[in-house]
Amino acid sequence: MSRAEPLVIIGAGIIGVCVAAYLAERGLAPLVIDRSGVVEETSSGNAAALAFSDILPLAQKGMLRNLPRWLADPLGPLAVPPAYLPRLTPWLWRFWRAGHGDQQTAVNAQAALMRLAEAEWLALMERSGTRRMLREDGSLELYESEAEFSASLPGWSVRERCGIAFEHVNRPGIDRLQPGLGAMFVRGTFVPGWKTVSDPEHLGKAIWAHAERHGARFEAATVEAVEPAGEASRLTLADGTEIVASRVVIAAGAWSHRFARRFGDRIPLETERGYNTTLPADAFDLKRQLIFSSHGFVVTPLQTGIRVGGAVELGGLERPPDYRRARAMLEKARRFMPGIRTQGGREWMGYRPSLPDSLPVIGRASGSQGVFHAFGHGHLGLTQAAATGRLIADLVSGNSPAIDPRPFRPDRFRGRI
Ligand SMILES: Cc1cc2nc3c(=O)[nH]c(=O)nc-3n(C[C@H](O)[C@H](O)[C@H](O)COP(=O)(O)OP(=O)(O)OC[C@H]3O[C@@H](n4cnc5c(N)ncnc54)[C@H](O)[C@@H]3O)c2cc1C
Repeated sequence: MSRAEPLVIIGAGIIGVCVAAYLAERGLAPLVIDRSGVVEETSSGNAAALAFSDILPLAQKGMLRNLPRWLADPLGPLAVPPAYLPRLTPWLWRFWRAGHGDQQTAVNAQAALMRLAEAEWLALMERSGTRRMLREDGSLELYESEAEFSASLPGWSVRERCGIAFEHVNRPGIDRLQPGLGAMFVRGTFVPGWKTVSDPEHLGKAIWAHAERHGARFEAATVEAVEPAGEASRLTLADGTEIVASRVVIAAGAWSHRFARRFGDRIPLETERGYNTTLPADAFDLKRQLIFSSHGFVVTPLQTGIRVGGAVELGGLERPPDYRRARAMLEKARRFMPGIRTQGGREWMGYRPSLPDSLPVIGRASGSQGVFHAFGHGHLGLTQAAATGRLIADLVSGNSPAIDPRPFRPDRFRGRI
Protein backbone atom coordinates (compact mmCIF):
# COMPACT_ATOMS: atom_id res chain seq x y z
CA MET A 1 0.00 0.00 0.00
CA SER A 2 1.35 3.43 -0.89
CA ARG A 3 0.10 6.91 -0.18
CA ALA A 4 1.30 10.50 -0.40
CA GLU A 5 1.79 12.98 2.44
CA PRO A 6 2.97 16.58 2.19
CA LEU A 7 4.94 16.64 5.47
CA VAL A 8 6.01 13.80 7.78
CA ILE A 9 7.87 14.00 11.10
CA ILE A 10 9.63 10.82 12.25
CA GLY A 11 9.59 10.71 16.04
CA ALA A 12 7.14 12.00 18.67
CA GLY A 13 9.59 12.77 21.43
CA ILE A 14 9.64 16.33 22.75
CA ILE A 15 11.56 17.50 19.66
CA GLY A 16 9.13 15.94 17.15
CA VAL A 17 6.16 17.21 19.16
CA CYS A 18 7.44 20.80 19.32
CA VAL A 19 8.36 20.74 15.64
CA ALA A 20 4.83 19.47 14.94
CA ALA A 21 3.32 22.27 17.03
CA TYR A 22 5.20 25.00 15.17
CA LEU A 23 4.48 23.49 11.75
CA ALA A 24 0.82 22.95 12.58
CA GLU A 25 0.48 26.53 13.81
CA ARG A 26 1.68 27.60 10.37
CA GLY A 27 -1.08 25.57 8.77
CA LEU A 28 1.16 22.77 7.48
CA ALA A 29 -0.73 19.87 9.16
CA PRO A 30 2.19 17.44 9.65
CA LEU A 31 1.81 13.69 10.10
CA VAL A 32 3.91 12.48 13.05
CA ILE A 33 4.95 8.82 13.09
CA ASP A 34 6.28 7.09 16.19
CA ARG A 35 6.61 3.43 17.11
CA SER A 36 5.68 3.91 20.76
CA GLY A 37 3.26 6.83 21.10
CA VAL A 38 3.56 10.51 21.94
CA VAL A 39 6.36 11.39 24.41
CA GLU A 40 6.69 7.83 25.67
CA GLU A 41 10.46 7.33 25.56
CA THR A 42 13.44 9.49 26.59
CA SER A 43 11.42 12.70 26.58
CA SER A 44 8.97 11.32 29.13
CA GLY A 45 11.27 10.61 32.07
CA ASN A 46 14.03 13.21 32.04
CA ALA A 47 15.01 15.59 34.83
CA ALA A 48 12.51 18.28 33.76
CA ALA A 49 14.99 21.16 33.63
CA LEU A 50 14.76 24.11 31.28
CA ALA A 51 18.49 24.58 31.69
CA PHE A 52 18.82 27.85 29.79
CA SER A 53 22.13 28.70 31.50
CA ASP A 54 23.75 25.40 30.52
CA ILE A 55 25.83 26.83 27.67
CA LEU A 56 29.20 25.13 28.19
CA PRO A 57 30.06 22.17 25.96
CA LEU A 58 30.04 19.00 28.03
CA ALA A 59 33.65 18.29 27.09
CA GLN A 60 34.58 21.54 28.81
CA LYS A 61 32.29 21.29 31.80
CA GLY A 62 34.73 19.43 34.00
CA MET A 63 33.87 16.12 32.39
CA LEU A 64 37.39 15.59 31.05
CA ARG A 65 38.88 16.73 34.37
CA ASN A 66 36.75 14.28 36.33
CA LEU A 67 37.13 11.44 33.83
CA PRO A 68 39.76 9.28 35.59
CA ARG A 69 37.97 9.47 38.97
CA TRP A 70 34.57 8.76 37.43
CA LEU A 71 35.71 5.83 35.28
CA ALA A 72 37.38 4.23 38.30
CA ASP A 73 33.96 3.82 39.93
CA PRO A 74 31.92 1.14 38.05
CA LEU A 75 28.63 2.68 39.26
CA GLY A 76 29.89 6.27 39.10
CA PRO A 77 28.62 9.21 37.05
CA LEU A 78 30.27 8.04 33.82
CA ALA A 79 30.57 4.49 32.56
CA VAL A 80 31.78 2.90 29.35
CA PRO A 81 31.12 -0.85 29.11
CA PRO A 82 34.48 -2.26 27.90
CA ALA A 83 32.86 -4.23 25.06
CA TYR A 84 31.47 -0.98 23.61
CA LEU A 85 34.75 0.95 23.75
CA PRO A 86 36.02 0.03 20.24
CA ARG A 87 32.81 1.36 18.66
CA LEU A 88 32.88 4.43 20.83
CA THR A 89 36.50 5.47 20.26
CA PRO A 90 35.94 7.75 17.21
CA TRP A 91 33.17 9.59 19.08
CA LEU A 92 35.34 9.92 22.20
CA TRP A 93 38.15 11.34 20.09
CA ARG A 94 35.82 13.98 18.63
CA PHE A 95 34.51 14.68 22.13
CA TRP A 96 38.05 15.17 23.44
CA ARG A 97 38.78 17.52 20.55
CA ALA A 98 35.64 19.53 21.29
CA GLY A 99 37.08 20.16 24.76
CA HIS A 100 40.32 21.44 23.29
CA GLY A 101 39.20 23.32 20.19
CA ASP A 102 37.59 26.72 19.64
CA GLN A 103 35.41 26.87 22.73
CA GLN A 104 34.15 30.42 22.27
CA THR A 105 32.38 29.72 18.96
CA ALA A 106 30.58 26.73 20.49
CA VAL A 107 29.63 28.71 23.61
CA ASN A 108 28.31 31.62 21.52
CA ALA A 109 26.23 29.24 19.39
CA GLN A 110 24.80 27.50 22.44
CA ALA A 111 24.09 30.82 24.18
CA ALA A 112 22.22 32.10 21.11
CA LEU A 113 20.17 28.90 20.95
CA MET A 114 19.43 29.16 24.68
CA ARG A 115 18.18 32.75 24.37
CA LEU A 116 15.87 31.59 21.61
CA ALA A 117 14.95 28.51 23.68
CA GLU A 118 13.75 30.59 26.62
CA ALA A 119 11.78 33.05 24.48
CA GLU A 120 10.18 30.27 22.43
CA TRP A 121 9.26 28.07 25.42
CA LEU A 122 7.57 30.95 27.22
CA ALA A 123 5.67 31.93 24.07
CA LEU A 124 4.70 28.34 23.20
CA MET A 125 3.50 27.74 26.76
CA GLU A 126 1.31 30.84 26.51
CA ARG A 127 -0.14 29.78 23.16
CA SER A 128 -0.75 26.20 24.30
CA GLY A 129 -2.12 27.06 27.75
CA THR A 130 0.70 25.16 29.52
CA ARG A 131 2.33 28.04 31.41
CA ARG A 132 0.98 26.61 34.69
CA MET A 133 3.37 23.66 34.19
CA LEU A 134 6.41 25.94 34.57
CA ARG A 135 8.32 26.21 37.89
CA GLU A 136 10.46 29.30 38.25
CA ASP A 137 12.36 28.71 41.49
CA GLY A 138 15.88 28.31 40.05
CA SER A 139 18.48 25.68 40.79
CA LEU A 140 21.09 25.16 43.49
CA GLU A 141 24.41 23.58 42.53
CA LEU A 142 26.34 22.15 45.47
CA TYR A 143 30.07 21.73 46.22
CA GLU A 144 31.69 19.65 48.92
CA SER A 145 34.98 21.59 49.15
CA GLU A 146 36.51 24.98 48.41
CA ALA A 147 38.66 23.24 45.80
CA GLU A 148 35.61 21.89 43.97
CA PHE A 149 33.97 25.32 44.12
CA SER A 150 37.13 27.05 42.81
CA ALA A 151 37.33 24.58 39.92
CA SER A 152 33.81 25.62 38.87
CA LEU A 153 34.61 29.36 38.75
CA PRO A 154 36.00 29.61 35.19
CA GLY A 155 32.72 28.11 33.91
CA TRP A 156 30.71 30.67 35.87
CA SER A 157 32.85 33.48 34.40
CA VAL A 158 31.97 32.26 30.90
CA ARG A 159 28.27 32.32 31.82
CA GLU A 160 28.63 35.79 33.36
CA ARG A 161 30.05 37.12 30.09
CA CYS A 162 26.93 35.74 28.36
CA GLY A 163 24.68 37.69 30.75
CA ILE A 164 23.56 34.73 32.88
CA ALA A 165 22.68 35.67 36.47
CA PHE A 166 23.83 33.55 39.42
CA GLU A 167 24.76 33.93 43.07
CA HIS A 168 27.49 32.02 44.89
CA VAL A 169 26.44 31.20 48.44
CA ASN A 170 28.12 29.80 51.53
CA ARG A 171 26.58 27.45 54.09
CA PRO A 172 23.94 29.84 55.53
CA GLY A 173 22.90 30.63 51.95
CA ILE A 174 22.58 26.93 51.19
CA ASP A 175 20.38 26.42 54.26
CA ARG A 176 18.17 29.33 53.21
CA LEU A 177 17.68 27.92 49.71
CA GLN A 178 17.32 24.28 50.76
CA PRO A 179 17.06 23.31 54.43
CA GLY A 180 18.07 19.83 55.50
CA LEU A 181 21.13 19.09 53.37
CA GLY A 182 24.15 17.11 54.60
CA ALA A 183 27.00 18.96 56.32
CA MET A 184 29.44 18.07 53.52
CA PHE A 185 28.25 20.97 51.36
CA VAL A 186 30.27 24.10 52.01
CA ARG A 187 29.45 26.16 48.92
CA GLY A 188 26.64 26.49 46.44
CA THR A 189 25.60 28.44 43.34
CA PHE A 190 22.03 29.60 42.94
CA VAL A 191 20.83 30.21 39.36
CA PRO A 192 17.53 32.11 39.54
CA GLY A 193 16.73 31.86 35.81
CA TRP A 194 16.91 28.05 35.75
CA LYS A 195 13.42 26.63 35.37
CA THR A 196 11.81 23.22 35.63
CA VAL A 197 8.50 21.81 34.45
CA SER A 198 5.91 20.01 36.53
CA ASP A 199 6.40 16.76 34.57
CA PRO A 200 8.09 16.45 31.17
CA GLU A 201 5.73 13.74 29.95
CA HIS A 202 2.63 15.76 30.87
CA LEU A 203 4.06 18.89 29.26
CA GLY A 204 4.97 17.02 26.06
CA LYS A 205 1.52 15.48 25.80
CA ALA A 206 -0.12 18.87 26.40
CA ILE A 207 1.99 20.44 23.63
CA TRP A 208 0.90 17.56 21.39
CA ALA A 209 -2.77 18.30 22.19
CA HIS A 210 -2.07 21.89 21.08
CA ALA A 211 -0.43 20.62 17.86
CA GLU A 212 -3.43 18.37 17.19
CA ARG A 213 -5.84 21.27 17.69
CA HIS A 214 -3.93 23.02 14.88
CA GLY A 215 -4.12 20.05 12.52
CA ALA A 216 -1.17 17.76 13.37
CA ARG A 217 -1.94 14.02 13.05
CA PHE A 218 -0.36 10.97 14.69
CA GLU A 219 0.26 7.46 13.38
CA ALA A 220 1.68 4.64 15.51
CA ALA A 221 4.20 2.78 13.33
CA THR A 222 7.84 1.84 13.09
CA VAL A 223 9.68 3.47 10.21
CA GLU A 224 11.94 0.79 8.72
CA ALA A 225 13.59 2.99 6.10
CA VAL A 226 13.53 6.39 4.42
CA GLU A 227 15.14 7.01 1.07
CA PRO A 228 15.17 9.62 -1.66
CA ALA A 229 12.42 9.25 -4.28
CA GLY A 230 13.03 11.94 -6.89
CA GLU A 231 12.43 15.26 -5.17
CA ALA A 232 10.41 13.54 -2.44
CA SER A 233 11.25 10.80 0.09
CA ARG A 234 9.84 7.30 0.44
CA LEU A 235 9.19 5.96 3.95
CA THR A 236 8.70 2.24 4.44
CA LEU A 237 6.83 1.25 7.57
CA ALA A 238 7.20 -2.09 9.38
CA ASP A 239 3.87 -3.36 8.02
CA GLY A 240 5.05 -2.71 4.47
CA THR A 241 3.11 0.53 3.94
CA GLU A 242 4.92 3.08 1.82
CA ILE A 243 4.50 6.82 2.24
CA VAL A 244 5.84 9.22 -0.33
CA ALA A 245 6.42 12.48 1.52
CA SER A 246 7.21 15.82 -0.09
CA ARG A 247 9.02 16.87 3.08
CA VAL A 248 10.37 14.88 6.02
CA VAL A 249 11.68 15.98 9.42
CA ILE A 250 13.93 13.44 11.13
CA ALA A 251 13.37 13.79 14.90
CA ALA A 252 13.97 10.20 15.99
CA GLY A 253 16.25 11.00 18.92
CA ALA A 254 19.16 8.59 19.36
CA TRP A 255 18.10 6.62 16.26
CA SER A 256 18.14 9.58 13.85
CA HIS A 257 21.61 9.10 12.35
CA ARG A 258 20.45 5.82 10.77
CA PHE A 259 17.94 7.78 8.67
CA ALA A 260 20.21 10.78 8.04
CA ARG A 261 22.82 8.59 6.34
CA ARG A 262 20.50 7.99 3.35
CA PHE A 263 20.43 11.74 2.74
CA GLY A 264 24.18 12.27 2.62
CA ASP A 265 24.88 13.02 6.29
CA ARG A 266 27.13 10.81 8.40
CA ILE A 267 26.45 12.19 11.84
CA PRO A 268 28.53 10.97 14.82
CA LEU A 269 25.50 10.49 17.05
CA GLU A 270 25.99 8.41 20.18
CA THR A 271 23.71 7.80 23.08
CA GLU A 272 24.49 8.84 26.62
CA ARG A 273 22.17 6.57 28.55
CA GLY A 274 20.89 8.08 31.79
CA TYR A 275 19.01 6.68 34.78
CA ASN A 276 16.74 7.91 37.50
CA THR A 277 14.27 6.96 40.21
CA THR A 278 11.06 8.89 40.79
CA LEU A 279 10.08 8.83 44.45
CA PRO A 280 6.69 9.77 45.90
CA ALA A 281 6.16 13.55 46.02
CA ASP A 282 6.40 13.68 49.84
CA ALA A 283 9.78 11.87 49.99
CA PHE A 284 11.57 15.14 50.85
CA ASP A 285 10.63 18.79 51.30
CA LEU A 286 12.45 19.89 48.14
CA LYS A 287 12.44 23.61 47.37
CA ARG A 288 14.02 23.61 43.90
CA GLN A 289 16.21 21.47 41.64
CA LEU A 290 19.47 20.45 43.32
CA ILE A 291 22.55 19.76 41.19
CA PHE A 292 25.35 17.52 42.44
CA SER A 293 27.67 18.14 39.49
CA SER A 294 30.71 16.25 40.69
CA HIS A 295 28.49 13.19 41.20
CA GLY A 296 26.69 13.65 37.88
CA PHE A 297 23.12 13.76 39.11
CA VAL A 298 20.27 16.12 40.02
CA VAL A 299 17.18 15.95 42.23
CA THR A 300 14.04 17.56 40.81
CA PRO A 301 10.72 18.43 42.44
CA LEU A 302 7.95 17.33 40.05
CA GLN A 303 4.22 17.56 40.52
CA THR A 304 4.26 13.78 40.18
CA GLY A 305 7.19 13.00 42.51
CA ILE A 306 10.81 13.64 43.35
CA ARG A 307 13.15 12.54 40.61
CA VAL A 308 16.71 11.52 41.52
CA GLY A 309 19.01 10.80 38.62
CA GLY A 310 21.42 11.55 35.83
CA ALA A 311 24.68 9.71 35.11
CA VAL A 312 26.09 8.92 31.70
CA GLU A 313 26.53 5.42 30.35
CA LEU A 314 28.09 5.38 26.89
CA GLY A 315 26.75 1.94 26.09
CA GLY A 316 24.87 2.16 22.78
CA LEU A 317 21.29 1.32 21.88
CA GLU A 318 21.17 -2.45 22.34
CA ARG A 319 22.52 -3.26 25.82
CA PRO A 320 19.85 -3.87 28.53
CA PRO A 321 19.54 -1.24 31.29
CA ASP A 322 21.69 -1.61 34.39
CA TYR A 323 19.46 -0.18 37.11
CA ARG A 324 22.22 -0.51 39.70
CA ARG A 325 23.18 2.95 38.39
CA ALA A 326 19.84 4.40 39.47
CA ARG A 327 20.25 2.78 42.89
CA ALA A 328 23.79 4.14 43.30
CA MET A 329 22.49 7.70 42.81
CA LEU A 330 19.66 7.08 45.24
CA GLU A 331 22.19 5.89 47.80
CA LYS A 332 24.16 9.11 47.37
CA ALA A 333 20.97 11.16 47.67
CA ARG A 334 20.34 9.46 51.00
CA ARG A 335 23.72 10.73 52.24
CA PHE A 336 23.34 14.22 50.79
CA MET A 337 19.72 14.72 51.84
CA PRO A 338 19.36 13.09 55.27
CA GLY A 339 15.75 12.18 55.90
CA ILE A 340 14.81 11.55 52.25
CA ARG A 341 12.55 8.51 52.02
CA THR A 342 13.89 6.35 49.22
CA GLN A 343 11.21 3.65 49.23
CA GLY A 344 8.48 3.26 46.66
CA GLY A 345 10.41 4.68 43.69
CA ARG A 346 10.03 3.95 39.98
CA GLU A 347 13.24 3.30 38.03
CA TRP A 348 13.78 4.49 34.48
CA MET A 349 16.41 4.72 31.76
CA GLY A 350 16.54 7.00 28.72
CA TYR A 351 18.77 7.53 25.68
CA ARG A 352 20.21 11.02 25.34
CA PRO A 353 20.99 11.60 21.65
CA SER A 354 24.44 13.17 21.87
CA LEU A 355 26.91 14.79 19.53
CA PRO A 356 30.55 15.25 20.50
CA ASP A 357 30.42 19.07 20.34
CA SER A 358 27.26 19.25 22.54
CA LEU A 359 25.33 21.13 19.83
CA PRO A 360 22.26 19.63 18.14
CA VAL A 361 21.84 19.06 14.42
CA ILE A 362 19.17 21.42 13.11
CA GLY A 363 19.04 22.00 9.40
CA ARG A 364 18.41 20.80 5.89
CA ALA A 365 19.94 17.46 4.89
CA SER A 366 23.01 17.72 2.68
CA GLY A 367 21.55 15.45 0.02
CA SER A 368 17.91 16.56 -0.15
CA GLN A 369 16.11 19.89 -0.19
CA GLY A 370 13.02 18.31 1.33
CA VAL A 371 14.58 16.59 4.37
CA PHE A 372 15.32 18.37 7.64
CA HIS A 373 17.25 17.13 10.67
CA ALA A 374 16.15 17.92 14.23
CA PHE A 375 18.07 15.74 16.66
CA GLY A 376 21.16 15.34 18.82
CA HIS A 377 20.20 17.58 21.75
CA GLY A 378 22.00 15.41 24.30
CA HIS A 379 21.33 16.63 27.84
CA LEU A 380 19.25 19.57 26.61
CA GLY A 381 16.42 18.23 24.45
CA LEU A 382 13.61 19.45 26.66
CA THR A 383 15.31 22.83 27.08
CA GLN A 384 15.82 23.36 23.35
CA ALA A 385 12.69 21.72 21.92
CA ALA A 386 10.64 24.87 21.30
CA ALA A 387 13.64 26.66 19.75
CA THR A 388 14.17 23.65 17.49
CA GLY A 389 10.49 23.76 16.51
CA ARG A 390 10.83 27.42 15.64
CA LEU A 391 14.00 26.95 13.56
CA ILE A 392 12.68 23.94 11.65
CA ALA A 393 9.39 25.74 10.94
CA ASP A 394 11.38 28.73 9.65
CA LEU A 395 13.46 26.50 7.38
CA VAL A 396 10.52 24.41 6.12
CA SER A 397 8.40 27.45 5.34
CA GLY A 398 11.29 29.33 3.72
CA ASN A 399 11.41 32.18 6.27
CA SER A 400 14.71 33.56 7.46
CA PRO A 401 15.63 31.64 10.62
CA ALA A 402 15.23 33.29 14.02
CA ILE A 403 18.97 32.83 14.72
CA ASP A 404 21.96 31.89 12.58
CA PRO A 405 21.52 28.11 12.09
CA ARG A 406 25.02 27.49 10.68
CA PRO A 407 26.61 26.20 13.94
CA PHE A 408 23.99 23.41 13.93
CA ARG A 409 24.31 22.40 10.28
CA PRO A 410 24.45 18.66 9.56
CA ASP A 411 27.61 18.76 7.45
CA ARG A 412 29.81 20.27 10.17
CA PHE A 413 31.43 16.90 10.90
CA ARG A 414 32.28 16.18 7.30
CA GLY A 415 35.95 15.50 6.63
CA ARG A 416 36.83 15.70 10.32
CA ILE A 417 37.86 12.54 12.09
C1 LIG B 1 18.40 10.89 32.75
C2 LIG B 1 18.13 12.00 31.76
C3 LIG B 1 17.87 13.27 32.24
C4 LIG B 1 17.65 14.32 31.36
N1 LIG B 1 17.32 15.56 31.84
C5 LIG B 1 17.07 16.58 30.98
C6 LIG B 1 16.68 17.85 31.48
O1 LIG B 1 16.52 18.04 32.68
N2 LIG B 1 16.49 18.86 30.58
C7 LIG B 1 16.66 18.68 29.24
O2 LIG B 1 16.52 19.64 28.49
N3 LIG B 1 16.96 17.46 28.74
C8 LIG B 1 17.17 16.41 29.58
N4 LIG B 1 17.51 15.17 29.10
C9 LIG B 1 17.67 15.01 27.65
C10 LIG B 1 16.34 14.91 26.95
O3 LIG B 1 15.51 13.98 27.60
C11 LIG B 1 16.57 14.49 25.50
O4 LIG B 1 17.51 15.34 24.89
C12 LIG B 1 15.27 14.55 24.72
O5 LIG B 1 14.28 13.78 25.36
C13 LIG B 1 15.46 14.06 23.30
O6 LIG B 1 14.22 14.20 22.66
P1 LIG B 1 13.98 13.60 21.22
O7 LIG B 1 12.61 13.96 20.85
O8 LIG B 1 15.12 14.01 20.33
O9 LIG B 1 14.17 12.04 21.42
P2 LIG B 1 13.18 10.93 22.05
O10 LIG B 1 12.47 11.42 23.22
O11 LIG B 1 14.03 9.70 22.20
O12 LIG B 1 12.14 10.71 20.90
C14 LIG B 1 12.48 10.06 19.71
C15 LIG B 1 11.28 9.28 19.26
O13 LIG B 1 11.60 8.68 18.01
C16 LIG B 1 10.93 7.45 17.97
N5 LIG B 1 11.59 6.58 16.99
C17 LIG B 1 12.90 6.25 16.91
N6 LIG B 1 13.11 5.43 15.88
C18 LIG B 1 11.91 5.23 15.29
C19 LIG B 1 11.47 4.48 14.17
N7 LIG B 1 12.33 3.74 13.45
N8 LIG B 1 10.17 4.50 13.85
C20 LIG B 1 9.28 5.21 14.57
N9 LIG B 1 9.63 5.96 15.64
C21 LIG B 1 10.93 5.96 15.99
C22 LIG B 1 11.02 6.91 19.38
O14 LIG B 1 9.98 5.99 19.63
C23 LIG B 1 10.92 8.16 20.22
O15 LIG B 1 9.62 8.37 20.70
C24 LIG B 1 17.71 14.09 29.96
C25 LIG B 1 17.93 12.80 29.49
C26 LIG B 1 18.13 11.75 30.38
C27 LIG B 1 18.35 10.37 29.85
